[in-house]
Amino acid sequence: MKLNFKYLILFIIFLLGILFFLTSANKLSLENKKNTIPIKLNENQTVETEKRNLEKNKIEAFTSNKTSNHHEKQLKKILLKVEKGQTFSQILNSFNIANNRKFEIINAINSIFNLRGLKINQKIFFFINDNEIVKQIIIELDFKKNLVVDLRSKINIEIIELKTYTDIESKEFNIKNSLYSDGIDNKIPNVILIKLIQLFSFDLDFQRDIRENTQVSISYQKISIDNKINYELGDIEYAKISIKNNNLEYFKFLTDDGFIDYFNREGKNVKKSILKTPLDGAKLSSNFGMRKHPISGFNKMHKGIDFAAPKGTPIYAGGNGVVEVAGVNGGYGKYIRIRHNNEYKTAYAHLNSFKKGIRKGVRVNQGEIIGYVGSTGKSTGPHLHYEIIYQNKQINPLTLKLPSGKILKGDELNKFKKNYKMILANHLNNLFE
Ligand SMILES: [Zn+2]
Repeated sequence: MKLNFKYLILFIIFLLGILFFLTSANKLSLENKKNTIPIKLNENQTVETEKRNLEKNKIEAFTSNKTSNHHEKQLKKILLKVEKGQTFSQILNSFNIANNRKFEIINAINSIFNLRGLKINQKIFFFINDNEIVKQIIIELDFKKNLVVDLRSKINIEIIELKTYTDIESKEFNIKNSLYSDGIDNKIPNVILIKLIQLFSFDLDFQRDIRENTQVSISYQKISIDNKINYELGDIEYAKISIKNNNLEYFKFLTDDGFIDYFNREGKNVKKSILKTPLDGAKLSSNFGMRKHPISGFNKMHKGIDFAAPKGTPIYAGGNGVVEVAGVNGGYGKYIRIRHNNEYKTAYAHLNSFKKGIRKGVRVNQGEIIGYVGSTGKSTGPHLHYEIIYQNKQINPLTLKLPSGKILKGDELNKFKKNYKMILANHLNNLFE
Protein backbone atom coordinates (compact mmCIF):
# COMPACT_ATOMS: atom_id res chain seq x y z
CA MET A 1 0.00 0.00 0.00
CA LYS A 2 2.82 2.32 1.02
CA LEU A 3 4.54 1.57 -2.25
CA ASN A 4 1.33 2.15 -4.18
CA PHE A 5 0.92 5.47 -2.40
CA LYS A 6 4.42 6.51 -3.44
CA TYR A 7 3.65 5.55 -7.04
CA LEU A 8 0.39 7.45 -6.84
CA ILE A 9 2.27 10.62 -5.73
CA LEU A 10 4.84 10.15 -8.48
CA PHE A 11 2.05 9.58 -10.95
CA ILE A 12 0.31 12.78 -9.81
CA ILE A 13 3.57 14.73 -10.13
CA PHE A 14 4.00 13.21 -13.57
CA LEU A 15 0.46 14.26 -14.50
CA LEU A 16 1.05 17.77 -13.15
CA GLY A 17 4.24 17.87 -15.18
CA ILE A 18 2.38 16.96 -18.36
CA LEU A 19 -0.32 19.48 -17.55
CA PHE A 20 2.27 22.20 -16.99
CA PHE A 21 3.98 21.29 -20.23
CA LEU A 22 0.74 21.37 -22.12
CA THR A 23 -0.33 24.76 -20.76
CA SER A 24 3.04 26.34 -21.43
CA ALA A 25 3.06 24.83 -24.91
CA ASN A 26 -0.38 26.26 -25.41
CA LYS A 27 0.83 29.64 -24.17
CA LEU A 28 3.72 29.42 -26.61
CA SER A 29 1.45 28.71 -29.50
CA LEU A 30 -0.74 31.62 -28.40
CA GLU A 31 2.27 33.85 -28.40
CA ASN A 32 3.12 32.57 -31.84
CA LYS A 33 -0.36 33.44 -32.91
CA LYS A 34 0.05 36.88 -31.41
CA ASN A 35 3.19 37.26 -33.43
CA THR A 36 1.45 36.42 -36.64
CA ILE A 37 -1.43 38.79 -36.05
CA PRO A 38 0.56 41.99 -36.39
CA ILE A 39 2.21 40.68 -39.51
CA LYS A 40 -1.15 39.98 -41.01
CA LEU A 41 -2.33 43.42 -39.95
CA ASN A 42 0.62 44.93 -41.73
CA GLU A 43 -0.21 42.92 -44.80
CA ASN A 44 -3.74 44.23 -44.64
CA GLN A 45 -2.44 47.71 -44.29
CA THR A 46 -0.28 47.44 -47.34
CA VAL A 47 -3.19 46.00 -49.23
CA GLU A 48 -5.18 48.98 -48.02
CA THR A 49 -2.63 51.50 -49.20
CA GLU A 50 -2.25 49.67 -52.49
CA LYS A 51 -5.96 49.89 -52.88
CA ARG A 52 -5.86 53.55 -52.09
CA ASN A 53 -3.17 54.07 -54.66
CA LEU A 54 -5.23 52.16 -57.14
CA GLU A 55 -8.11 54.38 -56.23
CA LYS A 56 -5.94 57.41 -56.86
CA ASN A 57 -4.95 56.05 -60.23
CA LYS A 58 -8.56 55.33 -60.88
CA ILE A 59 -9.46 58.87 -59.97
CA GLU A 60 -6.94 60.17 -62.43
CA ALA A 61 -8.22 57.76 -65.02
CA PHE A 62 -11.89 58.14 -64.27
CA THR A 63 -12.63 60.60 -66.98
CA SER A 64 -11.70 58.06 -69.61
CA ASN A 65 -13.86 55.28 -68.15
CA LYS A 66 -10.79 53.17 -67.67
CA THR A 67 -11.71 50.11 -65.66
CA SER A 68 -9.84 48.95 -62.66
CA ASN A 69 -10.77 45.45 -61.58
CA HIS A 70 -8.51 45.09 -58.60
CA HIS A 71 -9.97 43.90 -55.32
CA GLU A 72 -13.24 45.73 -55.76
CA LYS A 73 -16.18 45.52 -58.00
CA GLN A 74 -16.38 48.17 -60.63
CA LEU A 75 -18.24 51.26 -59.51
CA LYS A 76 -20.58 53.05 -61.81
CA LYS A 77 -19.70 56.66 -62.56
CA ILE A 78 -22.32 59.38 -62.76
CA LEU A 79 -21.43 62.91 -63.77
CA LEU A 80 -23.54 65.80 -62.53
CA LYS A 81 -22.93 69.43 -63.34
CA VAL A 82 -23.92 72.08 -60.84
CA GLU A 83 -26.95 73.93 -62.09
CA LYS A 84 -27.82 77.54 -61.45
CA GLY A 85 -28.94 78.05 -57.85
CA GLN A 86 -28.40 74.38 -56.96
CA THR A 87 -26.86 73.51 -53.60
CA PHE A 88 -24.69 70.49 -52.90
CA SER A 89 -27.40 69.18 -50.58
CA GLN A 90 -29.86 69.27 -53.47
CA ILE A 91 -27.38 67.45 -55.66
CA LEU A 92 -27.04 64.73 -53.00
CA ASN A 93 -30.81 64.29 -53.14
CA SER A 94 -30.36 62.55 -56.48
CA PHE A 95 -28.93 59.64 -54.50
CA ASN A 96 -30.22 57.45 -51.78
CA ILE A 97 -28.36 58.85 -48.80
CA ALA A 98 -29.81 59.04 -45.29
CA ASN A 99 -30.27 62.56 -43.97
CA ASN A 100 -27.80 62.27 -41.11
CA ARG A 101 -25.19 60.78 -43.47
CA LYS A 102 -25.80 63.62 -45.90
CA PHE A 103 -25.26 66.11 -43.10
CA GLU A 104 -22.00 64.37 -42.13
CA ILE A 105 -20.74 64.43 -45.72
CA ILE A 106 -21.54 68.11 -46.18
CA ASN A 107 -19.89 69.05 -42.88
CA ALA A 108 -16.81 67.02 -43.67
CA ILE A 109 -16.41 68.64 -47.11
CA ASN A 110 -17.06 72.12 -45.76
CA SER A 111 -14.16 71.71 -43.32
CA ILE A 112 -11.83 71.58 -46.35
CA PHE A 113 -13.72 73.25 -49.16
CA ASN A 114 -16.59 75.72 -48.85
CA LEU A 115 -19.41 74.14 -50.81
CA ARG A 116 -20.98 77.54 -51.32
CA GLY A 117 -18.08 78.17 -53.67
CA LEU A 118 -19.43 75.64 -56.18
CA LYS A 119 -19.84 77.22 -59.58
CA ILE A 120 -22.42 76.67 -62.29
CA ASN A 121 -21.34 73.76 -64.52
CA GLN A 122 -18.71 72.58 -62.03
CA LYS A 123 -18.35 68.83 -62.50
CA ILE A 124 -19.12 66.38 -59.70
CA PHE A 125 -18.62 62.66 -60.22
CA PHE A 126 -20.51 60.11 -58.12
CA PHE A 127 -19.38 56.51 -57.95
CA ILE A 128 -22.05 54.03 -56.97
CA ASN A 129 -22.00 50.29 -56.45
CA ASP A 130 -24.53 47.74 -57.69
CA ASN A 131 -26.83 48.60 -54.80
CA GLU A 132 -26.83 52.26 -55.81
CA ILE A 133 -24.85 53.19 -52.71
CA VAL A 134 -22.53 56.17 -53.22
CA LYS A 135 -18.99 55.05 -52.44
CA GLN A 136 -17.06 58.01 -53.69
CA ILE A 137 -17.60 61.59 -54.78
CA ILE A 138 -15.13 63.63 -56.79
CA ILE A 139 -15.55 67.36 -57.15
CA GLU A 140 -13.42 68.98 -59.85
CA LEU A 141 -11.97 71.98 -58.06
CA ASP A 142 -10.07 73.23 -61.06
CA PHE A 143 -8.26 71.86 -64.06
CA LYS A 144 -5.46 70.39 -61.96
CA LYS A 145 -7.18 69.64 -58.64
CA ASN A 146 -9.87 67.25 -57.47
CA LEU A 147 -11.54 66.95 -54.10
CA VAL A 148 -12.08 63.27 -53.39
CA VAL A 149 -14.64 62.12 -50.85
CA ASP A 150 -14.20 58.49 -49.93
CA LEU A 151 -17.35 57.02 -48.38
CA ARG A 152 -16.41 53.37 -48.24
CA SER A 153 -16.19 53.41 -44.48
CA LYS A 154 -15.42 56.53 -42.49
CA ILE A 155 -15.74 59.72 -44.51
CA ASN A 156 -12.30 60.53 -45.81
CA ILE A 157 -11.59 63.71 -47.78
CA GLU A 158 -8.53 64.55 -49.77
CA ILE A 159 -7.54 67.20 -52.28
CA ILE A 160 -5.58 65.53 -55.03
CA GLU A 161 -3.26 67.35 -57.41
CA LEU A 162 -3.50 65.71 -60.80
CA LYS A 163 -0.42 64.89 -62.79
CA THR A 164 0.13 67.41 -65.56
CA TYR A 165 2.01 67.25 -68.84
CA THR A 166 3.39 70.36 -70.47
CA ASP A 167 3.74 70.69 -74.22
CA ILE A 168 5.27 73.67 -75.94
CA GLU A 169 3.49 75.08 -78.96
CA SER A 170 5.38 77.40 -81.29
CA LYS A 171 4.07 79.78 -83.94
CA GLU A 172 5.52 82.36 -86.27
CA PHE A 173 3.69 84.83 -88.47
CA ASN A 174 3.87 88.21 -90.17
CA ILE A 175 1.50 90.96 -89.22
CA LYS A 176 -0.78 92.16 -92.02
CA ASN A 177 -3.40 94.01 -90.00
CA SER A 178 -2.71 93.96 -86.30
CA LEU A 179 -0.88 91.76 -83.85
CA TYR A 180 -4.17 90.66 -82.34
CA SER A 181 -6.17 89.87 -85.48
CA ASP A 182 -3.25 88.15 -87.20
CA GLY A 183 -2.56 86.23 -84.00
CA ILE A 184 -6.14 84.98 -83.96
CA ASP A 185 -5.88 84.08 -87.68
CA ASN A 186 -2.77 82.07 -86.85
CA LYS A 187 -4.67 80.18 -84.14
CA ILE A 188 -2.87 81.70 -81.19
CA PRO A 189 -5.22 81.55 -78.21
CA ASN A 190 -6.72 84.79 -76.98
CA VAL A 191 -5.17 84.54 -73.47
CA ILE A 192 -1.71 84.07 -74.95
CA LEU A 193 -2.14 87.10 -77.23
CA ILE A 194 -3.13 89.21 -74.23
CA LYS A 195 -0.04 88.01 -72.34
CA LEU A 196 2.08 88.79 -75.40
CA ILE A 197 0.77 92.35 -75.61
CA GLN A 198 1.40 92.82 -71.87
CA LEU A 199 4.91 91.45 -72.23
CA PHE A 200 5.83 94.03 -74.88
CA SER A 201 3.92 96.94 -73.39
CA PHE A 202 7.16 98.36 -71.95
CA ASP A 203 8.68 98.50 -75.42
CA LEU A 204 5.92 99.04 -77.91
CA ASP A 205 2.98 101.22 -78.66
CA PHE A 206 0.93 98.58 -80.44
CA GLN A 207 -1.22 101.02 -82.35
CA ARG A 208 1.66 102.97 -83.80
CA ASP A 209 4.82 100.90 -83.75
CA ILE A 210 3.63 97.71 -85.37
CA ARG A 211 3.91 97.90 -89.11
CA GLU A 212 3.14 95.61 -91.96
CA ASN A 213 5.55 92.68 -92.11
CA THR A 214 6.44 92.90 -88.48
CA GLN A 215 7.30 89.32 -87.58
CA VAL A 216 6.06 87.62 -84.44
CA SER A 217 7.55 84.39 -83.12
CA ILE A 218 6.21 82.77 -79.99
CA SER A 219 6.31 79.62 -77.84
CA TYR A 220 3.83 78.93 -75.06
CA GLN A 221 2.82 76.12 -72.73
CA LYS A 222 -0.13 73.84 -73.24
CA ILE A 223 -0.86 71.93 -70.06
CA SER A 224 -2.79 68.69 -70.25
CA ILE A 225 -3.89 65.99 -67.87
CA ASP A 226 -4.28 62.27 -68.56
CA ASN A 227 -7.57 61.47 -70.16
CA LYS A 228 -8.85 65.01 -70.24
CA ILE A 229 -9.49 66.23 -73.74
CA ASN A 230 -9.29 69.92 -72.93
CA TYR A 231 -6.09 71.62 -71.91
CA GLU A 232 -5.01 74.71 -70.08
CA LEU A 233 -2.72 77.40 -71.43
CA GLY A 234 0.36 78.20 -69.38
CA ASP A 235 3.12 80.77 -69.69
CA ILE A 236 4.73 82.26 -72.72
CA GLU A 237 8.19 80.64 -72.92
CA TYR A 238 9.62 82.77 -75.67
CA ALA A 239 8.46 85.76 -77.69
CA LYS A 240 10.11 87.80 -80.38
CA ILE A 241 8.81 90.79 -82.30
CA SER A 242 10.96 91.85 -85.24
CA ILE A 243 10.32 95.28 -86.73
CA LYS A 244 12.59 95.85 -89.71
CA ASN A 245 15.92 94.63 -88.40
CA ASN A 246 15.24 95.32 -84.78
CA ASN A 247 14.54 92.28 -82.62
CA LEU A 248 12.80 92.55 -79.31
CA GLU A 249 12.87 89.16 -77.65
CA TYR A 250 12.19 87.74 -74.20
CA PHE A 251 12.70 84.42 -72.52
CA LYS A 252 10.88 83.12 -69.51
CA PHE A 253 13.05 82.52 -66.45
CA LEU A 254 12.50 81.49 -62.86
CA THR A 255 14.70 83.81 -60.82
CA ASP A 256 16.58 82.74 -57.70
CA ASP A 257 14.08 84.63 -55.58
CA GLY A 258 11.32 82.51 -57.05
CA PHE A 259 9.62 84.79 -59.56
CA ILE A 260 8.79 83.89 -63.11
CA ASP A 261 9.87 86.80 -65.23
CA TYR A 262 11.10 87.64 -68.71
CA PHE A 263 14.60 88.62 -69.76
CA ASN A 264 16.37 89.38 -73.02
CA ARG A 265 19.53 87.52 -74.07
CA GLU A 266 21.67 89.86 -71.97
CA GLY A 267 19.66 88.98 -68.86
CA LYS A 268 17.85 92.32 -68.65
CA ASN A 269 14.37 92.20 -67.30
CA VAL A 270 11.46 93.18 -69.51
CA LYS A 271 10.29 95.68 -66.93
CA LYS A 272 13.18 97.94 -67.61
CA SER A 273 12.83 101.27 -66.01
CA ILE A 274 13.45 104.44 -67.96
CA LEU A 275 16.97 105.63 -67.21
CA LYS A 276 17.00 108.47 -64.73
CA THR A 277 20.45 109.57 -65.85
CA PRO A 278 20.91 109.00 -69.60
CA LEU A 279 24.62 109.81 -69.67
CA ASP A 280 27.78 108.85 -67.80
CA GLY A 281 29.67 110.99 -65.34
CA ALA A 282 27.19 113.85 -65.44
CA LYS A 283 26.46 116.26 -62.60
CA LEU A 284 22.92 117.29 -61.83
CA SER A 285 23.04 121.05 -62.33
CA SER A 286 19.38 122.02 -62.18
CA ASN A 287 16.45 120.20 -60.72
CA PHE A 288 12.82 119.88 -61.74
CA GLY A 289 10.54 122.64 -60.42
CA MET A 290 10.15 126.42 -60.17
CA ARG A 291 13.30 128.43 -60.72
CA LYS A 292 14.55 131.74 -62.03
CA HIS A 293 15.41 131.16 -65.66
CA PRO A 294 19.15 131.76 -66.17
CA ILE A 295 18.61 133.66 -69.42
CA SER A 296 15.20 135.39 -69.24
CA GLY A 297 15.46 136.01 -65.49
CA PHE A 298 11.76 135.20 -65.01
CA ASN A 299 10.49 132.64 -62.56
CA LYS A 300 9.53 129.66 -64.64
CA MET A 301 8.73 126.04 -64.18
CA HIS A 302 11.71 123.92 -65.14
CA LYS A 303 10.10 120.86 -66.66
CA GLY A 304 13.13 118.66 -66.77
CA ILE A 305 16.49 118.17 -65.13
CA ASP A 306 19.81 119.48 -66.31
CA PHE A 307 23.00 117.48 -66.28
CA ALA A 308 26.22 119.42 -66.68
CA ALA A 309 28.68 117.47 -68.83
CA PRO A 310 31.50 118.26 -71.24
CA LYS A 311 30.58 118.94 -74.84
CA GLY A 312 30.52 115.70 -76.83
CA THR A 313 29.56 113.41 -73.93
CA PRO A 314 27.43 110.56 -75.37
CA ILE A 315 23.71 110.57 -74.49
CA TYR A 316 21.84 107.26 -74.20
CA ALA A 317 18.28 106.40 -75.06
CA GLY A 318 16.40 106.28 -71.74
CA GLY A 319 14.44 103.23 -72.80
CA ASN A 320 13.43 101.13 -75.81
CA GLY A 321 11.33 103.09 -78.24
CA VAL A 322 10.91 104.95 -81.50
CA VAL A 323 12.44 108.35 -82.28
CA GLU A 324 9.50 110.74 -82.62
CA VAL A 325 11.45 113.95 -83.16
CA ALA A 326 15.11 114.55 -84.07
CA GLY A 327 15.77 118.14 -85.14
CA VAL A 328 16.04 121.76 -84.06
CA ASN A 329 13.21 122.71 -81.71
CA GLY A 330 13.29 126.45 -80.75
CA GLY A 331 14.86 127.15 -77.36
CA TYR A 332 15.57 123.43 -76.94
CA GLY A 333 18.11 123.64 -79.73
CA LYS A 334 18.98 120.27 -81.21
CA TYR A 335 16.36 118.03 -79.70
CA ILE A 336 15.38 114.34 -79.64
CA ARG A 337 12.16 112.86 -78.36
CA ILE A 338 11.66 109.12 -78.04
CA ARG A 339 8.28 107.44 -77.62
CA HIS A 340 8.65 104.35 -75.39
CA ASN A 341 5.06 103.17 -75.30
CA ASN A 342 1.66 104.77 -75.26
CA GLU A 343 2.33 106.41 -71.90
CA TYR A 344 6.01 107.28 -71.67
CA LYS A 345 8.29 109.48 -73.75
CA THR A 346 11.69 111.02 -73.05
CA ALA A 347 13.18 114.22 -74.49
CA TYR A 348 16.80 115.38 -74.81
CA ALA A 349 17.70 119.03 -75.50
CA HIS A 350 20.62 121.38 -76.33
CA LEU A 351 22.50 118.58 -78.11
CA ASN A 352 25.69 119.33 -79.96
CA SER A 353 24.87 116.70 -82.59
CA PHE A 354 22.84 113.60 -83.31
CA LYS A 355 24.32 110.13 -83.55
CA LYS A 356 24.55 109.09 -87.20
CA GLY A 357 21.33 107.36 -88.27
CA ILE A 358 19.17 108.86 -85.54
CA ARG A 359 16.11 110.39 -87.20
CA LYS A 360 12.34 110.30 -86.95
CA GLY A 361 10.90 106.76 -87.06
CA VAL A 362 14.09 104.95 -86.05
CA ARG A 363 13.83 102.35 -83.33
CA VAL A 364 16.32 102.61 -80.47
CA ASN A 365 17.11 100.39 -77.52
CA GLN A 366 17.75 101.47 -73.96
CA GLY A 367 21.36 102.49 -73.46
CA GLU A 368 22.02 103.04 -77.17
CA ILE A 369 23.86 106.30 -78.02
CA ILE A 370 21.49 108.77 -79.71
CA GLY A 371 23.47 112.04 -79.60
CA TYR A 372 26.08 114.18 -77.84
CA VAL A 373 25.98 116.89 -75.19
CA GLY A 374 26.17 120.49 -76.45
CA SER A 375 24.81 123.97 -75.81
CA THR A 376 22.45 124.64 -78.72
CA GLY A 377 19.25 126.71 -78.27
CA LYS A 378 18.67 128.77 -75.10
CA SER A 379 21.58 127.47 -73.09
CA THR A 380 24.33 128.98 -70.96
CA GLY A 381 26.82 126.16 -71.31
CA PRO A 382 27.20 122.51 -72.27
CA HIS A 383 24.53 120.45 -70.51
CA LEU A 384 21.79 117.98 -71.23
CA HIS A 385 18.22 119.01 -70.50
CA TYR A 386 16.32 115.75 -69.94
CA GLU A 387 12.57 115.27 -69.69
CA ILE A 388 10.45 112.26 -68.91
CA ILE A 389 6.97 112.71 -70.33
CA TYR A 390 4.09 110.69 -68.89
CA GLN A 391 0.76 110.95 -70.70
CA ASN A 392 2.04 114.03 -72.52
CA LYS A 393 3.06 115.87 -69.34
CA GLN A 394 6.60 116.34 -68.10
CA ILE A 395 7.19 114.66 -64.75
CA ASN A 396 10.08 114.77 -62.34
CA PRO A 397 12.49 112.01 -63.43
CA LEU A 398 14.06 111.83 -60.00
CA THR A 399 10.85 110.95 -58.21
CA LEU A 400 9.59 108.69 -61.00
CA LYS A 401 8.52 105.32 -59.76
CA LEU A 402 8.75 102.69 -62.45
CA PRO A 403 9.07 98.96 -61.94
CA SER A 404 12.75 98.36 -61.45
CA GLY A 405 14.34 96.29 -64.15
CA LYS A 406 16.34 93.45 -62.71
CA ILE A 407 19.59 92.57 -64.45
CA LEU A 408 20.81 89.01 -63.98
CA LYS A 409 24.40 88.59 -62.86
CA GLY A 410 26.91 85.88 -61.99
CA ASP A 411 25.57 82.36 -61.44
CA GLU A 412 22.02 83.43 -62.03
CA LEU A 413 23.00 84.89 -65.41
CA ASN A 414 24.83 81.67 -66.33
CA LYS A 415 21.80 79.63 -65.36
CA PHE A 416 19.59 81.92 -67.42
CA LYS A 417 21.84 81.63 -70.46
CA LYS A 418 21.76 77.83 -70.38
CA ASN A 419 18.04 78.03 -69.94
CA TYR A 420 17.33 80.42 -72.78
CA LYS A 421 19.41 78.39 -75.21
CA MET A 422 17.23 75.40 -74.44
CA ILE A 423 14.05 77.44 -74.86
CA LEU A 424 15.30 78.78 -78.18
CA ALA A 425 16.39 75.35 -79.46
CA ASN A 426 12.99 73.97 -78.50
CA HIS A 427 11.23 76.86 -80.21
CA LEU A 428 13.15 76.47 -83.47
CA ASN A 429 12.77 72.73 -83.36
CA ASN A 430 9.00 73.09 -82.97
CA LEU A 431 8.78 75.55 -85.84
CA PHE A 432 10.89 73.69 -88.34
CA GLU A 433 10.57 70.03 -87.45
ZN1 LIG B 1 16.85 122.30 -68.50
